[in-house]
This record gives sequence, C-alpha cells and structure tokens, in this order.
Amino acid sequence: MLRIGCHLSSSKGFLAMGREAVKIGANTFQFFTRNPRGGKAKELDLADVGAYLEFAKEHGIAQILAHAPYTLNACAKDEGLRRFAYETMCDDLQRLSHIPGSMYNFHPGSHVKQGVEIGIAYISEMLNRINAHGYDTMILLETMAGKGSEMGRNFEELRAIIDRVEDTQRLGVCLDTCHVFDGGYDIVDDLDGVLGEFDKVIGLVRLKAVHINDSKNPLGSRKDRHEKIGEGEIGLDAFARIVTHPRLRDLPFYLETPNELAGYQKEIMLLRALAEQPV
Ligand code: FE
Ligand code: FE
Ligand code: ZN
Repeated sequence: MLRIGCHLSSSKGFLAMGREAVKIGANTFQFFTRNPRGGKAKELDLADVGAYLEFAKEHGIAQILAHAPYTLNACAKDEGLRRFAYETMCDDLQRLSHIPGSMYNFHPGSHVKQGVEIGIAYISEMLNRINAHGYDTMILLETMAGKGSEMGRNFEELRAIIDRVEDTQRLGVCLDTCHVFDGGYDIVDDLDGVLGEFDKVIGLVRLKAVHINDSKNPLGSRKDRHEKIGEGEIGLDAFARIVTHPRLRDLPFYLETPNELAGYQKEIMLLRALAEQPV
C-alpha cells in the first residue's frame, strides 16, 4: 500500500491533522513544526499528542514528516542567524521526541556569497552539534532546486555535508521531485539514471522520503515553482513511474502541490490508482 499524504496545517494540533489525513485518504502527512516564517512554537500539547498517537495507530498512520521553517539558514553569514537555526532545530527535535518514528526535514540553507565550501562547513557543524544531544528523530536534508545560493542544489553538495557529519545514523535525504527536476536531473526521461546517480553519489540507503510535486518550469530551470500533479512539466507518466519504481515505492510520499484539501484528496486517489496499475 502506497504511503502518501500531503502537507497539512498544524494550527489545530496533531489529532486534527490525523483526522484530516484520514478524511482525504492519506496514511501519512507533513506539517510545519511552527510558523514557516519562523517565530515561537506553541507549547506542545501532550494530551493532543497522546490522542493523536492513539488515533494514528487505529488508522494505520505509521510515520509522519515534520518540516522545519524554511526561513532557517544554518549557513547564514550572521552568527546570530546560525544560532537561531540551531536552537530552533533543537527545540523542534526535542518536541518530536514525543512522536516516535517521525522524521524532520530541513532546507540546508543559502550560503549567500560566502561560497559552497563555507556553506557545507556551517551546515555539517550544526548537525554535529545537534547530534551531540542524542535526539532519536531521523533528520532529512532536502534536495533543493538551486535558486540563488541555495545549498543542496545537487547530490554532490548533500554528499559533502553528510561526509562531514560524524554520526550519520540518523541523517537521511528527502528527494523533492520538483526541486531535482528544476536542478537539472531528468526524472522524466531517465528516472533510472537519476536514481543510479543518487545511489552512486549519496547512496539510496539515505533516501527516506519523497516530496511529490509537479513543476511549473522545464528541466534545469532552478525556479522552484510547484505545480499540481500531471499539470506541469513532469507529467503524469513520469509520476506513474515514480510511485511504482522499486527503489521508491516503499518510501513515504508527500504532496506539496498548490491545492486545498479537496485537491489533495484527488491527487492521493490518482497516485494510488497509478501505483496499483500493473507496469
Ligand atoms: Fe521543503
Ligand atoms: Fe519540498
Ligand atoms: Zn519547493
């Protein structure tokens, strides 16, 4: 059974997200740990978390994906901003320890004219400091489209970060289909080739989740504009190959397409149908 869900608003708490997920046919979901623009997170409501865990067990929601605020920049030039990224992630991971099996995805950051080398050094340094706390949540680096000075624009950059982290037991990668396509990886005409490249450079054992989004822009455009499934440049045939690929089909998939709940429900049904089609 395909594990698929979408990004949900966390404003009403965990149980509400669980109910919403089930309502639209999802068996997993993604959420922001706090306002995506940053800022303080609400106090974690342990009763809500407990009720959610009960509900999740009943409804077969095994694993969920938390997304760090996208404004965090672990490789900012300003030391205060780097510290803020570190402290926010520590606080998020502390909270996530109440939700066993969850994973935590973050954007590596933007080096903003400091250069890729400095970016790699700061990000890996932060991950080493985070690891010192011994959080049990799997942390995922997201593959990025490479807009501006965004880090993680190719597999090599992610590999270079991972190489500098001492304990990589709880470090993985989340592949965003829109981002890698925008980054020049041709998942439409050469999915096998791209996954082979991922395996060679990073290792497919590190791949823990997929953000499943179509792209408004063509291959290599580095724009990062998500489109509804089948309505963009990636297209439905490619998504059929993605959800059935032996190296991908057992991973959890998360929609971050421009949709309301009803639209997500349709896409989940569509992708489930594609996944069950004989290839
Ligand atoms: Fe993201
Ligand atoms: Fe994404
Ligand atoms: Zn994106």
